[in-house]
Amino acid sequence: MSAPLKEVKVAPKIGMVSLGCPKALVDSERIMTQLRSEGYDFSATHEGADVVIVNTCGFLDSAKEESLAAIGDAIQGNGRVIVTGCMGAEPEQIESVHPSVLAITGPQQYEDVVNAVHKAVPPVHDPFVDLVPEQGLRLTPRHYAYLKISEGCNNRCTFCIIPKLRGDLVSRPVHHVLFEAEKLAANGVKELLIISQDTSAYGVDIKYAESPWKGKRVKAKFYDMCEALGEMGVWVRLHYVYPYPHVDDVIPLMAAGKILPYLDIPFQHASPRVLKLMKRPGNIEKIADRIKKWREAVPELTIRSTFIVGFPGETEEDFEILLQFLRDAQLDRVGAFKYEAVKGAPANEIEGAVPEEVKQDRYDRFMAVQQEISAARLQTKIGKTLKVIIDEADGEGGADGRSMADAPEIDGKVFLRDVPVDVKQGDIIDVLIEDADEYDLFGVPV
Ligand code: SF4
Repeated sequence: MSAPLKEVKVAPKIGMVSLGCPKALVDSERIMTQLRSEGYDFSATHEGADVVIVNTCGFLDSAKEESLAAIGDAIQGNGRVIVTGCMGAEPEQIESVHPSVLAITGPQQYEDVVNAVHKAVPPVHDPFVDLVPEQGLRLTPRHYAYLKISEGCNNRCTFCIIPKLRGDLVSRPVHHVLFEAEKLAANGVKELLIISQDTSAYGVDIKYAESPWKGKRVKAKFYDMCEALGEMGVWVRLHYVYPYPHVDDVIPLMAAGKILPYLDIPFQHASPRVLKLMKRPGNIEKIADRIKKWREAVPELTIRSTFIVGFPGETEEDFEILLQFLRDAQLDRVGAFKYEAVKGAPANEIEGAVPEEVKQDRYDRFMAVQQEISAARLQTKIGKTLKVIIDEADGEGGADGRSMADAPEIDGKVFLRDVPVDVKQGDIIDVLIEDADEYDLFGVPV
């Protein structure tokens, strides 16, 4: 019996008109960055968009007229228009001329604009395609931000259709990445989550092109980008890093406290035979030894990964290799998917589809092994003092946050008691860990 094929939905398209000063442009870029990290695409024309955002300027009467005209064009060309920016501070002026606009928000109200977009055209989430978790589809709070360094992918993993949907790797020039990072940090972001389909391949397509940055030349290369990001004074967390040999180079940056001691490496499997069927990049052989070396250099290193169980052709022996890898590698955080046949993925043609009940059984056994490992690793944190970034504080002594080991939305939390009332979102404080369960930690500020 073969599993039903999974349709991948098409990303909604946003039109963006940005008027006014450089500050308004920065706002537009922030909105676009957020929407892009949530899986939205952009349209160069009003007609091709599902909704159009007009970021207005209201500084002079002539600028107001220009803004009203731009809104009029968008209504004519598309009909579904969200207005933001300086003119949004006086909504009646817009409503009196253009009563049909869907929403009006004021300057720097990124959250409201993005929420209005969610309402007008809900994002489509697909765990096989999206980089940001479903729970992360709300606008990220101001203290952390996703920073996308490239689009597309040069690999051809057989279970994945991203290269078909999004094309080959297109890396952003490194000064664009660094400029955006610096802007985000200047706007109060305390933690940057670096995302792409294949973060360690960054720059391959543009031959590691150099860009001028702060009087120096920086290469569009994984290590060089990490080194420059490490100078920004914010937490830098690396996601979707494939275990190419040059990943070893960033371990010293972690040891020096420049970037977070955290690696999100989607191993997907550990049996060389299954990995070959998956056509995965990176070499899994000796990876457990490499992980040991990384941990010798950076004892607090956290490794998160994802795996697929029940891939076509996976035998019980392959699965046992995977379980043994979990026991050897002692990964901190792990997610697992049961294989799903995505429409258009070459893996559907591979012989030996695994029956659903076997997939479920392997999934349950996988999770049982890993939960024990994750829980034991959390227990070792009891009694330690860790840096914790505050996600929410109620002003009455309660708060929660995350240690360097926890990415937002996908990892655990640190729940706090007796927090000083002036501690607020985005603060980074020292916390004595008093307790742990399977996922989360509990502690008190010191
Ligand atoms: S590395 Fe593989 S799984 Fe990841 S996007 Fe590229 S082809 Fe897909």
